[in-house]
Amino acid sequence: MSLAPGAGGAGAGAGGADAGAGMERQAREIRLHGLVKSFNGPHGPIEAVAGVELEIAVGETVALLGPNGAGKSTTIDMLLGLLEPDAGGVSVFGRSPSDAVAAGAVGAMLQTGSLIRDLTVRELISMMAALYPEPLAVDEVLELTGTSEFAAQRTQKLSGGQTQRVRAAVALVSNPELLVLDEPTVALDVEGRNAFWRVMREFAARGKTILFATHYLEEADAYADRAVLIAHGRIVADGPTNEIKAMVGSRTIRATLPGADLDALAALPGVGGVERRGEAVVLTCSDSDDAIRALLAAYPHARDIEINAAGLEQAFLALTGDDADGSPGAPAGAAPGAASTAGRSA
Ligand code: ADP
Repeated sequence: MSLAPGAGGAGAGAGGADAGAGMERQAREIRLHGLVKSFNGPHGPIEAVAGVELEIAVGETVALLGPNGAGKSTTIDMLLGLLEPDAGGVSVFGRSPSDAVAAGAVGAMLQTGSLIRDLTVRELISMMAALYPEPLAVDEVLELTGTSEFAAQRTQKLSGGQTQRVRAAVALVSNPELLVLDEPTVALDVEGRNAFWRVMREFAARGKTILFATHYLEEADAYADRAVLIAHGRIVADGPTNEIKAMVGSRTIRATLPGADLDALAALPGVGGVERRGEAVVLTCSDSDDAIRALLAAYPHARDIEINAAGLEQAFLALTGDDADGSPGAPAGAAPGAASTAGRSA
């Protein structure tokens, strides 16, 4: 991978196809350090974010991937300065989140928030553009987001897919260096999703940085360079998307194997993580074919063997060492080890 020119060259956009690639070696300009945030729940405090450490380089497209309730939105809200962390801090291009947002360096599309009514799409985008020091031209934004054909419509008359495009236009109009998207395609059909991501790809190709939260593995796989897995407010794995996909989009092998050594099992080829459930062990596999061969060679007495496709939820449970019922307990001691064994290439 080559080093691409910095995204700092505002208005360059000339890098073409190369501009979005190879920038991961850039300075990591977005930093989330030791972030902690709890809420008061009906049964006591809920630790929504429990020590998130994350650095993102200029030009990366990063998926924050996790099941519902993992802490994605809370993390994003702190990144945007909408929530004050209980501990830790955020630095965005060397500034506080609110300074970075006010300067137009950060654009966001959150799950909530409706468009101002009784304005046409063009009026809304023009109004937003006027708030920022160096906005994109309104026509460029309309073109980029595919909103020009309904620019004369009033915002309350738009379909769901159109509304989402206008929200993207609102996020892009300041010409931000960082775009933050919280589950941006949740309400969209397949066609709407594809259209949405085409816009984001084009934006990323300008050397911009994108962080998006999703609980769709396929979306992370298709659109991110890097996936950061979050569960119970902690990052449990972080790596190139194809590695994460191999880890979580894979299969599990369950076998009755009393007294087996978990470290030895974890070291078998094709195995990414190991969990004990009573007399059984569950292996999360990057390659279940290799893993089953190695397992049977090493443990010919293994019995009751099942191989299952591991959904994302299941992979998270394996990574975080939760009970099979998914109750969010404290992650077992194995969790960090499992993450580093399975999730990191180095
Ligand atoms: P995600 O975006 O991954 O679905 P969230 O960050 O929204 O997760 O939520 C993480 C946890 O914090 C969940 O248990 C959620 O119920 C809780 N939570 C989030 N916001 C609040 C709030 N304002 N008050 C109480 N609990 C909250």
